[in-house]
Amino acid sequence: MNLQPLLDKSARDHSHLCPRQILGVRMGLYGMKSLGFDEPPAKKRLLVIVESDGCFADGIGAATNCTVGHRTLRIEDYGKTAATFVDVETSHSLRLAPVLNIRDLAGASVSEESCRYFAQMQAYQTMSDDEMFTVSEVRLLSSIESIVSRPGLRVNCDLCGEEITNEREVQQNGLVLCRACSGNTYYQAAGKTPILSMRLDGKSLGRV
Ligand SMILES: [Zn+2]
Ligand SMILES: [Zn+2]
Repeated sequence: MNLQPLLDKSARDHSHLCPRQILGVRMGLYGMKSLGFDEPPAKKRLLVIVESDGCFADGIGAATNCTVGHRTLRIEDYGKTAATFVDVETSHSLRLAPVLNIRDLAGASVSEESCRYFAQMQAYQTMSDDEMFTVSEVRLLSSIESIVSRPGLRVNCDLCGEEITNEREVQQNGLVLCRACSGNTYYQAAGKTPILSMRLDGKSLGRV
């Protein structure tokens, strides 16, 4: 396994290489290998669901060629350096996570904090796969078909009118709604009634 070109690729879009990118590259390689791929498979056969964004996710992307743009990399932000690797042809799904004491293993003998960082950088490149990661068989709670959906599907939300692709709409009270208008939202208009209470407070679902 030649790690260096992948580390270079990961660090190219950063100003630095860091332990989390190395962890991501190593996990990306091991995740593929555990599914039986020696290299990134063609035709979007691999889907990776990464449990945090940032440097770790970029390392995974560098190793697997999976990207948000190709819809082969998704973020479920649990704030964890873990990821599930899915062979979309067979549904075989493996979740990889670092062993719980990976930091200790990587820098146990180093007392000074700044030195520990470099000890980790070094160790994450040389430790064996099974020293670093646990691999568990998992089953996705949403079907791969519903996660990936199909190109060209689009509807407009009955409330806000905005276009929704990839079957992300929600049926509610006989209406086709976007997630935000259905109350499952991460924002609200500044200074306005929250969308959710608009929906619940009256018979009309019209906009305020
Ligand atoms: Zn970093
Ligand atoms: Zn809407």
